[in-house]
Amino acid sequence: MDLSPITARMPSHGRIGIGPGWHGLLLALDKELAALAPGYVIWQVKQDGGGMDVVAKLTEDLDEGSLAAFRTAILRARADSLHACEECGAPARTVLDGAWCTTLCREHAAEARAATQLVALPRQIVNG
Ligand SMILES: [Zn+2]
Repeated sequence: MDLSPITARMPSHGRIGIGPGWHGLLLALDKELAALAPGYVIWQVKQDGGGMDVVAKLTEDLDEGSLAAFRTAILRARADSLHACEECGAPARTVLDGAWCTTLCREHAAEARAATQLVALPRQIVNG
């Protein structure tokens, strides 16, 4: 997916720290926010607590209704991300992966578990 509408709104050091499964949600959110506040800036996009966390900064004054709609759109996108796999966008649940929350479909959750086991293997060999 072409993320240039997002990167164009970010500072040069900005980074999009989410998986490809959420890129569609992010682009849809940007369209909604841009309609309310054409000059808004995206400060940060990251995964936090298993959901998409977008930090946006307004560069213009909005009326109360538009401001509420702006905030609601960000919260709704986060709520939607909690039901979409961060890797592929398929229906998903938030799971605990070690100390981290992550939202993955069944298939990608199984892959993540397999990868964790691969990482753990050398330690078992050392200790065995
Ligand atoms: Zn998936």
